[in-house]
Amino acid sequence: MKICPRCGNEVDEEMIICPHCGEILQKPSNKKSSDSLNIHLVRGLALFSLLLPIIGLIVGILAKEKFPMISKILTKFSLYGIIIAFMLLMLALICYLAMTFTGVSYL
Ligand SMILES: [Zn+2]
Repeated sequence: MKICPRCGNEVDEEMIICPHCGEILQKPSNKKSSDSLNIHLVRGLALFSLLLPIIGLIVGILAKEKFPMISKILTKFSLYGIIIAFMLLMLALICYLAMTFTGVSYL
């Protein structure tokens, strides 16, 4: 049993809303959902940082015929971008695994 912070009545542990006064009580699953939100954010950023240089690389290859100089620079930087993105992806994966095993959010 837990105590409602508003009316002081005893409330069942599973209750989300106090049956005595209607106060919204903190859900036990709150922490978990914010953790998965962080994971989604990290995953989204990692995928985005991977996608951007791949697009650059494709554009670079497509532009080879008409703009050889731009293509050369774009392809070169895109390859660096892919390497950096892969490292970020690995870092995100390590963070994800660490969060899963320890249950602690590092973000
Ligand atoms: Zn209450």
